[in-house]
Order: sequence, then C-alpha cells, then structure tokens
Amino acid sequence: IRRNEGEVVFHQAVREFAESVIPFLSEHQLYRDQYILERMTEPDRIIIFRVTWEDDQGHLRANRAWRVQFNNSIGPYKGGLRFHPSVDQSILKFLGFEQVFKNSLTGLPMGGAKGGSNFNPKGKSDREVMRFCHSLMIELHRHIGPDRDIPAGDIGVGAREISYLFGQYKRLENRWHGALTGKGLSYGGSLVRKEATGYGAVYFVQNMLEHAGIDLAGKKASVSGSGNVALYAIEKLLDLGATVHTASDSGGTIYDRDGIDRDKLAWLIDLKEKRRGRISEYAEQFGAEYRAGENPWSVPCDIALPCATQNELDLNDAKELVKNGLLAISEGANMPTSAEAMHYFLEKDVLFGPAKAANAGGVAVSGLEQSQNSLRISWSREELEGRLQGIMKEIHDKCIVHGQRPGRSVDYKTGANVAGFIKVADAMCGYGAV
Ligand code: NDP
Repeated sequence: IRRNEGEVVFHQAVREFAESVIPFLSEHQLYRDQYILERMTEPDRIIIFRVTWEDDQGHLRANRAWRVQFNNSIGPYKGGLRFHPSVDQSILKFLGFEQVFKNSLTGLPMGGAKGGSNFNPKGKSDREVMRFCHSLMIELHRHIGPDRDIPAGDIGVGAREISYLFGQYKRLENRWHGALTGKGLSYGGSLVRKEATGYGAVYFVQNMLEHAGIDLAGKKASVSGSGNVALYAIEKLLDLGATVHTASDSGGTIYDRDGIDRDKLAWLIDLKEKRRGRISEYAEQFGAEYRAGENPWSVPCDIALPCATQNELDLNDAKELVKNGLLAISEGANMPTSAEAMHYFLEKDVLFGPAKAANAGGVAVSGLEQSQNSLRISWSREELEGRLQGIMKEIHDKCIVHGQRPGRSVDYKTGANVAGFIKVADAMCGYGAV
C-alpha cells in the first residue's frame, strides 16, 4: 500500500481483483512462483506531461496529462483517454489495470492502458478544445501508434476530441494509420463503435438473465448517466422490449414514469451529443420528475445499468435496489459499484455483471475498428452488430466457467477476474523475466 500511497481507487480495483484471483492461485503454483499477481499490479510505465494551450482570451493555460501503459503482454496497449477535472494518477491506474483484463476477456489481441487529463471540456469553446487536443498530441504522438498503443474515448472524450487528436497525430507523424479508435466514419471509424459499450452492457444483462431462465422483455430498467454509454444502453433496452425510466448527469436524475420512448430518446441524444445540454431540460420538455442532486437508485426497477462514473452506487443504494426487487445489474461504467455494494449484491444472489465483462463491448468494437483499418475495408452494421453480440456471449460464457456457485447464482465477478487473468498470466509466464 505504501508503494502507491493515497491511490484509493487503484487500491479498490486491485483488492477487488485479488479477492477473486488469490483463491485460484492457491491451486496454481506456477503463477505463484512467478510472482504474476505482484508483477501485474505494477504498470509497465507511466508518462506524465504538461499540456500548455491558449484560451479564447489569449491567456496561456496549463494542465497535466498522463498515459498509463499498464501491460502489453497479449497485444499493443489499448484504452481510452478521459478529460475531467477529477482525473489523477490513481484514477488512471485503476482504469488501466481494469482495462488489461477486460481486453483479455474480449479474446482480441489487445494490452491495457488508460490516459487523460484534468482538463475540463465543459464550458470550453470548440476552438479551445481543439487547441488543447492539438497541444496534448504534441507529446502523446511519440508514445502511441497501431503496434504500440491505441487510445480511444472515455468521459469527456467523444467524436469531437478524437477528431482533433487524430488530425494532429496524422500531421505530426506524416502517416495515416489506425493509431486512435472512435474515429469519424469518413476517416477510418467503424460503424457501431459509438453504440458498442451501451449495446454490449445490455447484451451482457440479456445473457445473464437468459442463463437464469428470465426474459428481458417487459422488464423495468434504471439507467444512470446520459453520455455515450448510457444513451445507447437505453436504445438497446428499448430494442429488446424493456422499459427505461431514468437517466442522469452530474446535476441530477430524471424519473419518467411513462418511460423514455424512441422519440424522447432521439431528443435526448440530440440534447447531449449536439447541444451539450443538461438532463434537467428533459424534465422540462416532457414533464418528467427531476430530482436535483440525486442518483436513480431509489426508483424501483428490475434491472440497473450504472453508466456514469466510478463509485456512483453505494451500499445504501444497493439495499434500496434489492428491497425494490432488483434482479440484475450490468456495469456500463467502470467500477460504478462500491466494494460494499458489490458484496451485498453477490450475497443476495442478484446477477452482477462486473464492468470488465459487461462494458467490454466498446473496446471489442475498437479492436474491430483496428482490424478494418489494417485491412482497408469497412464492415456493415449487421456484420459488426453480429460480431459484438457474439463477443459478449463468449465473455458471458467465459465468466460462467470460473464463476459457478453450486445452488446459488453465478458469481460473474470471480468468473471475469479469473478468466481475464489466465490469458495475461500465461503470456507473462512464457516471456520469463521481462
Ligand atoms: P460521457 O462523458 O459520454 O458521459 C458521462 C456521463 O456520466 C455524463 O452523463 C456525466 O454527466 C455523468 N457523470 C460523469 N461524472 C459524474 C459524476 N462524478 N457524478 C455523476 N455523473 C457523472 O462518458 P462515457 O459515457 O463514455 O463513459 C461513462 C462511463 O463508462 C465511464 O465510467 C467510462 O470509463 C465507462 N466506459 C466508457 C466506454 C466508452 O466506450 N465510452 C467504454 C467502457 C467504459 P455530466 O455531463 O454532468 O458530467
């Protein structure tokens, strides 16, 4: 702990992982002899740099940026960039650590990384965001590339930011290749990438329910967030016949008793993706209830999809959800459930889809974007949706192998951690002392 003093969320992520993997290690001497778990918790390297940029008033501003290259045992580093004022090294290490095992679960050859900056894109003009992205890439371009490290989006980094970043990368490198994913469709992006994380989280919950003999159609769902993951999770829930009653942002939650239908969702996507508005405007537009400063977890539901940020669902929320009859939870966001809440769900036999399995759809389609770039082809929407569905089913089935609890619901958390661990551990054992 002293080695990583003060890195609270990184400790949380490692502890949650180690709880699952240590019992498995007790039966696998080889991994123990090679100190695999200890080695895995240390990133390969962390790059820290200053980003100086000019605001619209002509003043120079400075932010800190990082790239945590965690582990490239099974493929080039891969993972998103986050722009948010809360970003620090601990958050990026937790996200990079999770990414290693998530990418392993997809079955694609991708290592794990994460990066970002404490830059706050909210309230900045497009030109300010452009100047920041261009300046960040002046340093980052040396450390990335299709065989080295391939960043993507995350909180605060969407299509606009990826376009500015890729434009600057291509200029500095004087070459066009898939060094970033989440690109626009006119310059190497993939169909279904934008929707993939949200769709994937819903496919995962559909798989968990099916395995337990329950139908998703007709179920009531609560979703948190109203960003990239949340919006497309809502879309897929509607496609599969569920009803969705909540969405949120950092200001509060809307509770729509009639349900968010397709027309309302189209309006919400336009509000969030184009007008960069607040969720409270949905309540004004459609007469829904607005709960300022609250999250959605007190609203009764069968299925919960936390899709905003880490630790957004605590033990009290978990108790409230279970009291109201929750059947399943699928983590669209990374580590949105606190450790206490997660243990409570497992104790109560709620089907718990952990982030590294449930939200792996985004990085999986990023992997498919890289394949399309390398092959110089574009697959159709049907082809990509089919592949995404297949990958989510395979991840679900891998979790079951190591998550069986006789007479109880499947422990998907242990299943995901152990299955993700084995592939990376085997590669590290093979390499010897590197
Ligand atoms: P976006 O920036 O598009 O949306 C984030 C949403 O979460 C916004 O509605 C935002 O509200 C809300 N939010 C952010 N911080 C807080 C907070 N502290 N409290 C309450 N609400 C908050 O990000 P994404 O949708 O891309 O990412 C959401 C989560 O999903 C993250 O945990 C991310 O790591 C994870 N994820 C994303 C993937 C992707 O493909 N995009 C892939 C895998 C995981 P506001 O606008 O008010 O800040």
